[in-house]
Amino acid sequence: MKSKKKDIRALTKEQLREFFVSSGDKAFRGNQVYEWLWSKGAHSFESMTNISKDTREILEDNFVINHIKVDQMQRSTDGTIKNAVRLHDGLVVESVLIPTPSRTTACVSSQVGCSLDCRFCATSRLKRMRNLNPDEIYDQVIAIDNESRLYHNRPLSNIVFMGMGEPLMNYNNVLKAIDKITSPEGLGMSPKRITVSTSGVPKMIKKMADDEVRFKLAVSLHSAIDEVRTNIMPFNENFPLADLKEALEYWYEKTKSRITYEYVVWEGINDRKEDIDALLRFCSYVPCKVNLIEYNPIDDGEFQQASNATIENYINALESRGFVVNVRRSRGKDIDAACGQLANKT
Ligand code: SAH
Repeated sequence: MKSKKKDIRALTKEQLREFFVSSGDKAFRGNQVYEWLWSKGAHSFESMTNISKDTREILEDNFVINHIKVDQMQRSTDGTIKNAVRLHDGLVVESVLIPTPSRTTACVSSQVGCSLDCRFCATSRLKRMRNLNPDEIYDQVIAIDNESRLYHNRPLSNIVFMGMGEPLMNYNNVLKAIDKITSPEGLGMSPKRITVSTSGVPKMIKKMADDEVRFKLAVSLHSAIDEVRTNIMPFNENFPLADLKEALEYWYEKTKSRITYEYVVWEGINDRKEDIDALLRFCSYVPCKVNLIEYNPIDDGEFQQASNATIENYINALESRGFVVNVRRSRGKDIDAACGQLANKT
């Protein structure tokens, strides 16, 4: 039978304090337990040694502590690490550690599977099962931070929400996780080191701007022509580029934070001059930079990365207009850890 007990880590510190007051104890007890749960990462009530046995029993009767479990860790020849993470209900998501000389980045998942249907992405083949809770997102980060310290002798420096799922379709939980990551009681990381990547949900981009979030925004653009974009990212039909543009203008107006566009160039899909021209136009709307991402094949060749010459054309066109463009080589391909390859294969 499924446990009726509540996940104690879904409670805020204030709610924990209230729980203790209402059970006849001191509010301060809430702070102590909160510290065990978050700063000390306790996995059991039993391990909370400065909490009396009676109190621990009350906790035991009312709550569970759900933790993720790294089921399998794979290491790539390039230093990339991929974790298969088992959740309390048995579902699995993946997260990745990407080391470079100057930073170590965690790529984390926000949903089990994904409800979007980007045709070039392996995750889209797993239908969306559920949203991750804030603590399940937070725990992925902690697991990667520990591995970063262990295998690369340095703490995590950056986080990108580019794993499985669409973060803006699990916005509240992503926000709560980021609050925890940035708070001194969590990792105390600067929000400027965190990037949320979205396929572009206009309403939610505006909401983020209204919420005055301090993290960075990346948009998976891949085409600035509706017809082409809808073909490869069918949800674009409901969220067309004009709406995306308007939302991004709103975002920049409020946050003054430059947007990153992620863009893969595919042969026969977005490799024409008019594709480049459309991108140049789109880039002129709000301050931005473009990351040209290497395509990681996920199938039998329906999508093919465009030739180097075509990619050079993109780079030259963008640079000659004064736009910043980076080419992002993919990492961890040998263990299916690269962008768009997360599909719980193992
Ligand atoms: N749903 C979010 C985050 C997950 S995808 C988003 O769409 O942004 C993270 C990035 O990987 C996105 O830019 C996505 O377009 C890109 N991507 C997906 N499949 C890919 C593939 N096979 N090769 C290269 N990049 C891919």
